[in-house]
Amino acid sequence: MIKIKKKIPLIDQHDKFGFWGGKFGGNFIPETLKKPVEDLEILFSKLRNNKKFILERDKYFKNWVGSPTRFIKLENLSNHLKGAQVWAKVVSDANGGAHKIYNATVHCLIAKKAGKKFIVGDTGAGYAGKMLSMAAKKFGLKCKIFMGAKDIKRQKPNCDAMKKNGAEIVPVYTGSQTLVDAVSECMRYWVSNCDSTHMCVGSTVGPNIFVKICGWSTSQISRELKDQIKSSFKKMPKRIKLINCVGGGSSAYGFWSEFIDYKKKHIELIGVEAGGPKKSKLHAAPLSQGAKLGILHGAASYVCQNKEGQINETESVSAGLDYPGVSPMHCFLKDAKRARYTFATDEEALQAYKLVTQLEKLNPSLEPSHAFAEAIKIAPKLRKNTIIIVNSCGDAKKDKDILKDRLKKI
Ligand SMILES: *Cc1c(COP(=O)(O)O)cnc(C)c1O
Repeated sequence: MIKIKKKIPLIDQHDKFGFWGGKFGGNFIPETLKKPVEDLEILFSKLRNNKKFILERDKYFKNWVGSPTRFIKLENLSNHLKGAQVWAKVVSDANGGAHKIYNATVHCLIAKKAGKKFIVGDTGAGYAGKMLSMAAKKFGLKCKIFMGAKDIKRQKPNCDAMKKNGAEIVPVYTGSQTLVDAVSECMRYWVSNCDSTHMCVGSTVGPNIFVKICGWSTSQISRELKDQIKSSFKKMPKRIKLINCVGGGSSAYGFWSEFIDYKKKHIELIGVEAGGPKKSKLHAAPLSQGAKLGILHGAASYVCQNKEGQINETESVSAGLDYPGVSPMHCFLKDAKRARYTFATDEEALQAYKLVTQLEKLNPSLEPSHAFAEAIKIAPKLRKNTIIIVNSCGDAKKDKDILKDRLKKI
């Protein structure tokens, strides 16, 4: 049985080979990547213990990212569900409309400290690329985004935004011409250019150091939330449920990190994956659908795969959750039974979006709508003194076209 240690951030609970729980994570990288990865590990461990760097980070979080984001009670939704009180942490208030800006900002700060002039990243749906291009522009770094040729065709608005921010989009024509190939190509580029270039990975995935940097960045969300819970309630509520959607798992880790040491009975952590269309076998839910251990993007995690170990095609109405793997830290939390993972189907997420926007002045994107779907399912069965908090981690402006099309049909 895997045990979580108290008082040590989860990002540091890996062994000397980079594995959480002895088997999740690690560094499945080509020999040539070892040196730049090691250099980054050394630099990051220095910076995270440097007071001046922390102050600088906090200054940008506050003045540029827009931290702290709001913590609000959804009174109408709570009254409608007639059970637990439902609250939201409105992380979509952050610059760019989602939590990815925390990670992009920290990576740019690290790149500057390392004296790098260039930053590269990969992107699937384009949001990680868009956020990185925003941050790169802010910090005066030249930015290249690797993106599958097929994704470039599908995600024109995000590509336009990246170009507007001055980033160069590098189309990747190998393999399936999607995210998987973009990641490989980006890493290859980094190996040959690491003297001048820093690499950013957009979620708590990839080789060990990238999981750590991303988790360290998004954990700001849970520090904000802890203070906000203290000031919003006379005393710490006895039963809290923190519900978050899970794609790669960076927003969920950021939302939970300060609360992992609490007892499950006191603060339950619930992760909601993309169940895909109701009538289809395709999904992007490795944790809740019992996917097997596999290796993807330089790390071991539960991965949607076939019997041969080939990565499965995934499907979800929300581009942000459409990813076959998941953070090694979430695999660890699942096996340690600290967090519970479930899924919501496309239809459930769309229904949840509809209900939340009918009742509240809040516009959650399709990713957090998955989390709201779970809140809507469980709230009526719970008592009024239970506090459900949903991380509304993205704004639905980006989903305008899909919503217009799909909401007509439900
Ligand atoms: C990218 C994205 C996700 C999925 O990524 P995580 O690393 O799981 O957070 C979820 N929500 C939004 C709004 C996103 O942009």
